[in-house]
Amino acid sequence: MIEPSATIAMGTEARKLKARGVAVLDFALGEPDFDTPANIQEAAIRAMREGKTHYTPPAGIPELREAVAAVYTDHHGVKTDAAQVVVSNGAKHAIHNALMAVCGPGDEVVIPSPYWVSYSDLVKLTGATPVLVPTPESAGFKMTVEQFRAAVTPRTKLLMINSPSNPTGVVYERSELAALAEEVLKTDVGVLSDEIYEQLTYGDAKPTCFAGLHPDLPARTITVSGVSKTYAMTGWRIGWTVAPPAVSKFIGDLQSQETSNPCSVSQYAAIEAITGPQDSVKEMKAQFTRRRAYVLERIEKLPGVTCLPPGGAFYAFMNVASHFGRVLGGKQVDDSTSFCLTALSQANVALVMGSAFGAEGFARMSFATDLATLEKGFDALEKFLAS
Ligand code: PMP
Ligand code: GLU
Repeated sequence: MIEPSATIAMGTEARKLKARGVAVLDFALGEPDFDTPANIQEAAIRAMREGKTHYTPPAGIPELREAVAAVYTDHHGVKTDAAQVVVSNGAKHAIHNALMAVCGPGDEVVIPSPYWVSYSDLVKLTGATPVLVPTPESAGFKMTVEQFRAAVTPRTKLLMINSPSNPTGVVYERSELAALAEEVLKTDVGVLSDEIYEQLTYGDAKPTCFAGLHPDLPARTITVSGVSKTYAMTGWRIGWTVAPPAVSKFIGDLQSQETSNPCSVSQYAAIEAITGPQDSVKEMKAQFTRRRAYVLERIEKLPGVTCLPPGGAFYAFMNVASHFGRVLGGKQVDDSTSFCLTALSQANVALVMGSAFGAEGFARMSFATDLATLEKGFDALEKFLAS
């Protein structure tokens, strides 16, 4: 059975309360609060005025596929042809397409856990079985080579990697991914590398394009990324896969039957996002950097709450387990679900339960929110935890 997305569900719950006039401090959904940069908006308006409002080729307009291919060839050092790129309706759709292309009933997909909420359900949708590999906080939420080796069976089709990670913010070192890649290459397992947060890393953390780690990897790797996070374009719904040509052909054909094409106007906006000035990306990253520092400072002062500092993305994955068994805001809190539901109903703070990401004991806070809201949110959480 497919579960509804817990992140979207918490976001919807927060929105409903807001509509009733409740001043919700909303840290549920992982989406930048910034408006899409003006140059990107202008490109969309121009596209509309120029009549680019018709169906496009199912796999996306050639100019955008070429622009994406150029990013991989020029910036990631992975020689990529436009034919390997398929533009989809957001990275989530891109992941769904990729899984449909390579998985089916009887197959297994290895997913390090905690994992982004949609991975396991998207795998199940293909009839395949998600094989969750727990990576504890004490191991930095990273899957080791030994764990990968132990999880692989003759049925394993794919390993899903997400660095920087949602929900933990973990960024694997290049050497750690290289070691995993080496092990992968000893098997027949393919890799789906979700690199949607590639441009959002902090301090010494550096993103790695998995396919670029070995010349044999592009033939068995599907890279997923998109414009949603980097360019504050969540509503435009543009993501992509970069895959071996046969897989891309399948994905394009699938899309031609499922959705025809991603939104024409959004595709023109995405070209401007990728090829236009990148100043706004720098500005937004600077703000995320400030917010991250503030969030870590405030978590440090929250009684009984710890958090591994995120190397990337915009989430704080807080360990709140020490509060389980307590009464908070007049309600018994026993797990991450009751913790988050009680924080929402009693303190008006919207977080997402760790259990949705396969990690009981945690609550995820998105800091893609302005500092003033973060301040109010932590004030409210402090009171809530002291209650
Ligand atoms: N992958 C990860 C890890 C994410 O956090 C998200 C969240 N949006 C997505 C994929 C999907 O991105 P999009 O909004 O472009 O569908
Ligand atoms: N990826 C974001 C999140 O994890 C957006 C919501 C979603 O797509 O599930 O909150």
